[in-house]
Amino acid sequence: MKIGTKAIHAGVNPDPTTGAVMTPIYQTTTYAQKTPGDHKGYEYSRTHNPTRDALEKNLAALENGKHGLAFSSGMAATDTIAKLLEPGDEVISTNDLYGGTYRIFTKVYEPLGIKFQFVDMDNLEDISSAISPKTKMIWVETPTNPLLKVIDIRSVTELASQHGILVVVDNTFATPYLQNPLDIGADMVLHSVTKYLGGHSDVVMGAIVVKDDELAERLSFLQNSCGGIPSPNDCFLVLRGIKTLHIRLERHCQNAMKVAEFLKGHSKVDRVIYPGFKEHPGHEIAKKQMRGFGGMVSFVLQDESQDSVFSVLERLKLFTLAESLGGVESLAGHPSTMTHASIPKEEREKAGLPDSLIRLSVGIEDVDDLIADLNQALG
Ligand SMILES: *Cc1c(COP(=O)(O)O)cnc(C)c1O
Repeated sequence: MKIGTKAIHAGVNPDPTTGAVMTPIYQTTTYAQKTPGDHKGYEYSRTHNPTRDALEKNLAALENGKHGLAFSSGMAATDTIAKLLEPGDEVISTNDLYGGTYRIFTKVYEPLGIKFQFVDMDNLEDISSAISPKTKMIWVETPTNPLLKVIDIRSVTELASQHGILVVVDNTFATPYLQNPLDIGADMVLHSVTKYLGGHSDVVMGAIVVKDDELAERLSFLQNSCGGIPSPNDCFLVLRGIKTLHIRLERHCQNAMKVAEFLKGHSKVDRVIYPGFKEHPGHEIAKKQMRGFGGMVSFVLQDESQDSVFSVLERLKLFTLAESLGGVESLAGHPSTMTHASIPKEEREKAGLPDSLIRLSVGIEDVDDLIADLNQALG
């Protein structure tokens, strides 16, 4: 089955009791048992819920995995993966990482005795030389946020498998429409469902998809033990959102390319970062491992002063100045004071993230209106 068909049908069957075509919101905490232990597969909704089950099956199918797990947020999913680790273990991660992931690693798990190394994953040598016998996990985010670096997933998974290291890919930016890391050797795919999968900026949710049964069992155990599960109502909203994933992403990609080209031609813009450009250092890898270049565009103005950056952001009308990304509406953000403020300035500079960078989540509005808005804001 292809992705558009899976987005609409996977995991979703007419409800067995009523024939309802849309998966009902099973807003229940508990389930009747005939005699103790004799039930229909559902006991308590932290463990299983039919609405969540449908979504989890759908997510597993989209990522070509076997098991999907939905969480109350992307960070709850990250937290659950981090709980696979033990004191003394080491993790290698991208240096251009989602701010919240950097924060949980360095502020929550490092004090518990887990060591994190943040390396430039453009360079396989850097990963290779960071590997030690204690390395248990490599954490990849690609394209990265907000520098949109493209990391070659297959070369990372090939290296990791030589050392028996688990590879996690945060696939939030690419979505399963553009990239399926499990197909190229990753062990776990993580999503902030809050972004493109939900797609309508109305649900905070996370997900993990895996192929391996044992890994799935351990993650389900942690999910049930620690309790970071989403509500049935939110699962319904995401199932609904995913039905248009392929249509939305197609438009996100088209609009982003046009917006990026417009910005590149504007005299007040110094540089534009978009993996769809031939001159982007990760363009060839993106062509190889992705089916499109995504909806995120970053750019830097000629005048890098905070005044000029802030005034462009304030003048935008259609683009809303807000954190987050991946919804149908266009958003603009200033990573160094917003999404990435939890990363120290020295770390940001080391990773090549200037304070003057503006990040756009290009929505699916009519692109001429988006370009006109940027044009007036740039003045
Ligand atoms: C937003 C985001 C997260 C965190 O997800 P939440 O749903 O906000 O908890 C993780 N990774 C990336 C790439 C994100 O953009």
